[in-house]
Amino acid sequence: MAFVILDPCRGEKAGECVSVCPVDCIEEGPDQFYIDPDVCIDCGACKAVCPVSAIEEEYDLTPSQEKYLEEAEEFFANR
Ligand code: SF4
Ligand code: SF4
Repeated sequence: MAFVILDPCRGEKAGECVSVCPVDCIEEGPDQFYIDPDVCIDCGACKAVCPVSAIEEEYDLTPSQEKYLEEAEEFFANR
């Protein structure tokens, strides 16, 4: 399981989530930030501080939001 950053992050990118993540698994991508799903420990700290409610738990994603988890997996796989 992991938390996932969705499209409300696009263009916001202030990065509040990065500074609270205890395992340092959030990084800035070209259009938005991404959470490394292999490292995230599901603590929820990032979701609590996001000003635009862009972060959801993986199991709460709608079918149309699942692409953001795939984008995150690709982002960290291709670094
Ligand atoms: S706090 Fe929310 S909007 Fe800001 S960078 Fe993180 S996910 Fe994006
Ligand atoms: S849920 Fe916790 S571990 Fe996962 S990305 Fe957010 S702050 Fe980091």
